[in-house]
Amino acid sequence: MQFGTRLGSAGQDRSTWMAVLFLVVAVLAPTACVFWFMNDAARNQADAARMSLTEAYRGQMRFLRDNLESFWQKRAADLSDSPVDFRKMVMAGLADSVVYVNSDVPPALAADPLSDRADWRSAEALESRNASAAPAAYAAIAKADSDPSVAARAAQAQVRSLLRAGQKADALQAIRENFVTGRAAKGTDLQGRLIAADERMLALQLMNARDRPYTAAVEHLSSLLNDYHAAIPPAQRLFLMGQLRTLAHVDFPTYEAERLRAQFLEVDSAQPGEPGIQASRVPGVWKLTAKTGRVIALYRTETVLASARSFLDRQNSSSVRFAITPPGSAGAGESFSAGPLLPGWQISFSLLDTKAVDDLARQRTVSYFWVGYLVIAAIAVTGLMVGQSFRRQARLAHLKTDLVAAVSHELKTPLASMRVLVDSLLEDAEFNPRKTREYLELIAGENTRLTRLMENFLTFSRIERNRQRFAFAETKPADVVQAAVNAMRDRLQAPDCHLRVDVTPELPVLNADQDALVTVLLNLLDNAFKYTREDKRISIHAYSQDGHVVFAVEDNGIGIPAREHKRIFRRFYQIDRRLTRETGGCGLGLSIVDFIVRAHGSEVRVQSEAGAGSAFQVLLPCAS
Ligand code: ADP
Repeated sequence: MQFGTRLGSAGQDRSTWMAVLFLVVAVLAPTACVFWFMNDAARNQADAARMSLTEAYRGQMRFLRDNLESFWQKRAADLSDSPVDFRKMVMAGLADSVVYVNSDVPPALAADPLSDRADWRSAEALESRNASAAPAAYAAIAKADSDPSVAARAAQAQVRSLLRAGQKADALQAIRENFVTGRAAKGTDLQGRLIAADERMLALQLMNARDRPYTAAVEHLSSLLNDYHAAIPPAQRLFLMGQLRTLAHVDFPTYEAERLRAQFLEVDSAQPGEPGIQASRVPGVWKLTAKTGRVIALYRTETVLASARSFLDRQNSSSVRFAITPPGSAGAGESFSAGPLLPGWQISFSLLDTKAVDDLARQRTVSYFWVGYLVIAAIAVTGLMVGQSFRRQARLAHLKTDLVAAVSHELKTPLASMRVLVDSLLEDAEFNPRKTREYLELIAGENTRLTRLMENFLTFSRIERNRQRFAFAETKPADVVQAAVNAMRDRLQAPDCHLRVDVTPELPVLNADQDALVTVLLNLLDNAFKYTREDKRISIHAYSQDGHVVFAVEDNGIGIPAREHKRIFRRFYQIDRRLTRETGGCGLGLSIVDFIVRAHGSEVRVQSEAGAGSAFQVLLPCAS
C-alpha cells in the first residue's frame, strides 16, 4: 500500500501550462533582453568610461590652451622696443634673441665726409708712400677735429700707419690715448661700426697675454661688448665677442643670442609678422612679434616647448601625461589645437594608468547591473501577479463549467428516480402499504443523497468564495463518529453491507468544528459505500496515536491506483466517470475533506491499491 496526500485544483493542468507559457513570453523574454542589454552595456562601459575621462581631460586641455595663450599674449606685451634692453631680455629668459625692426636693418652707406679734405688726402698720400710722417699727419687730424667719427678714423689710420712702420709700442700707445677715454672713443666708421671697439681688439692682439695691462684690457673690452648702451652694431658685436672668446676665453651671456640674431637676419627679414608664435626661415626657430610691432623675439623650439611644459607639468599626474608638439610632429594620444597664438602646435595627453578608467567602468557596470536586476525583479513580480490573476481567472472559468455540468448531472439522476417512484405510486388505483413504504424509503434515500450533494455544493461554494467559517470548540471524537454513522445508517444497513464501528473509549477531546468533522467522515463513508461492490465491508475506527486522534475509514472496494492518490483530492477529479455516473458524485467530496482537515492543521492520508480496498486516515491533534 502507498501513502498519498492532497491535491491541487481539478482541471488546472491546462491553466498551469497557460500560466507557464505566459511567464515564458511575458517574463523570461524581457528578462533575457534585459540581460542582453546589461551585458552589452557592461561591455561598452570601458569605452564609455575612457571617453568620459577623455572628455574630462579635454576640459583640462582647454584650460591649458587658455593658459598658454595668455602666457604668449603677456610675453608679446612684455617685449621691450629698446635695443639697450637686449641683454636684459635675453638674461631674463624673455627671448632666445631679439631683432629690432628698424635698428637691425643695416643703414645705407653714408657719403665719406673726409674724401674731399686736403689734410686727409695728404695724410693718405704719405701713408701710401710709406713715409714716416704719415702717423703724425693722421694724429694731427685726430687731435684737431671735433667730430668723434673723424677723430676716430684719423686715430685708426694713425695706428695702422704706425704698425706698418713697425712701431707696435707707439701703436698701442695711440690706441690707449684715443680709444679708451678720448673723443675718438665714440666715433664710428662709414658702416656705423664703433671704431674704438675694433681698435681695442687690435690692441689685445698686439699685446702679449702676459703683459700686465692685458687682463685689464680684456675686461674693458668685455664690458664694452656687454654694454648695450654702446652703439655697437650687432654684426660687429658678435664678431668681436667671437674674437674675444677665442683669444681670451671670455664667456658672453648674450653670445648665443647674438649668433641667433645674425642667423635670423641672414635668411629672414626683420619685418613684423602675424601675432603669435610663427615659424621663421631659420629651421627650429620661431618668431614672436611684440604688441608694438617694433620688435621680434626669437625662440628655439626647445624654448617654446620648455615654457609650455612648465604649465603642462603642473597638470601631469601618475595617470595622465600632457605634452605639446610643434607643427608637423605627431602627438601621442588625444590631441587638441594649442590655440591661435601657437598655430599648428598641438596639446596632447596620454593615459599612463588605466586603473582610473577601469574603476570608472566597473562602477558604472555595477550600477547598470543593479538597475538591470531591479528591472528584472519588477518584471518577475509583475509577471507573477499577472500570471496569478490569469490562473485564477482560468480556474474560475473551469470551476464554473465543471460546477454547472456536475450540478445538472447530479440533480438529474435522483430527481428522475424520485419522479419514477412517485409516478408509479400514483398510477396504482389503490395504495399498497408495503410497496408505498418501500418506494417512500427509496425516495427518502434519493432525498438524502440529494441533500448530501447540495451540502457538498454549498460547502464547496463557501470554500471557493472564502466564506467557509469553522466554529472550533471542544469536540469528542466519539460524538463525531456517532453523528456520521447515524446520518448514513439507512444506507449502511443495506443487506449486503457490513459496517464495523470501533471507537477507543476515553479518547482525548479535540479542538474542532464538529459539523465539519462529521462532513469529513460522511464523505469518506459515502465513498467507501459507493466504491465497494457486493459484500461491502466498511469500518470506521477512532483511536489515539502520538498525541493525535485518528479517524480511519476502510473498505474492501475497488481501491485506488498509487498514481491517483494525489489527484483524487483535486476538485471535480474522478478516476472513472462511468462508474461515478452509476454511483453518483461529482468529484468534490475528497477536496472538501482535504480542505476541512487542513483547516484543522492536519492532513488526510490514503492507503490503497487497485482492487485491494482503500483506507483513509485523518489525523487530528488533540486539544492541549
Ligand atoms: P466523487 O463524488 O466522485 O466520489 P470524491 O472527491 O469523493 O468524488 O472522490 C474522488 C474520486 O476518488 C472518486 O471519483 C473515486 O474515483 C475515487 N475514490 C474516492 N474514494 C474512494 C474509495 N473509497 N475507493 C475507491 N475509489 C475512491
